[in-house]
Amino acid sequence: MRILLEINRDALLQNVKRINTFTGKKLIAVVKANAYGVGATLIASLLEPLEEVAAFAVACVEEGVELREAGVKKPILVLGGVLPEELEELVRWNLTPVVSHPSHLKALEGSFVKFHVKYDTGMGRLGFLEEIIQDRRVEGVMTHLSHPADRSFTLKQIETFRKIVSHYRGVKWVHLESSAGLIYRVDYATHVRVGLALYGEKPLSSYPIELSPALSLKARIISVKVLPAGHRVSYGDSCVLKRDTRVGVVAIGYADGLLKSLSGKARFYYRGVPVPLLGNITMDMTMVDLSSVEAEVGDWVEIVGPHQSFTQLAKEAGTIPYELMSLLSRRVHRVFA
Ligand SMILES: *Cc1c(COP(=O)(O)O)cnc(C)c1O
Repeated sequence: MRILLEINRDALLQNVKRINTFTGKKLIAVVKANAYGVGATLIASLLEPLEEVAAFAVACVEEGVELREAGVKKPILVLGGVLPEELEELVRWNLTPVVSHPSHLKALEGSFVKFHVKYDTGMGRLGFLEEIIQDRRVEGVMTHLSHPADRSFTLKQIETFRKIVSHYRGVKWVHLESSAGLIYRVDYATHVRVGLALYGEKPLSSYPIELSPALSLKARIISVKVLPAGHRVSYGDSCVLKRDTRVGVVAIGYADGLLKSLSGKARFYYRGVPVPLLGNITMDMTMVDLSSVEAEVGDWVEIVGPHQSFTQLAKEAGTIPYELMSLLSRRVHRVFA
């Protein structure tokens, strides 16, 4: 085994409870895109027994089917709506579509499938603008906050949605708050729709909930050798060694989600000591400067863990933790710790 993503069960469960306590609402755990790369069936099976988790949300029907096949019994929301040819699967696996376009309603015609209706209150992506759907199959209404860090814009979205919700009497599910959005503690909402914060990654630099980091990503050293000053490292000529250097090769590359743009910028950690990256990240391997540590072939280095979060690493790559995490490859072994 060469790449390990360790998921700390207790930290995850603690984060769920803290989010539930802070918001006073049950969670719709968002596990789309293989639970942001962490492993959807692992995460859903862990969270399924919790009373604080009311449902799961995925992006598409296939992701919902994967969860059902793994034994998930709670409601599963399909955020991306429904295409006509997906109705059969939707019914067979008891998935709940989010209807955000007239074509979704059309696809559900003649069925008894219950659904949530989505509104576009500012995101400019999916959702009706203001049309009220008079249909006994509506069991929820939702919208999505597009810029939770912008208070005045978000308060407008919350107010627009409040007016829409007032037309839906007796609907059991009203939800709009994501990990960042839940700081608004929207009083009329019944659930929060949370993904990133589950893993202890804070979605805003100042966040009112204390979260426990739940993920660590490690990879193994597969070669160590001293190269002389003047020797190049990796593709191209971006790295020429200034002094004799103990160069380690770590078995993780951009094909595993370690973005190439981190080349020459990031560092890994060996037993708590930072080891800088050398040269370009390659598809399957990344070189590090091990001159200051006693590392040997077979040892593990930390890429994400106590010393560096996905959020910090993403910042150095000029991106967001969502992208970095969801790119984690099939070669990554996902295990509970
Ligand atoms: C991904 C997603 C979420 C979860 O967002 P986090 O920031 O990870 O909490 C919530 N709602 C919708 C519609 C989403 O697409």
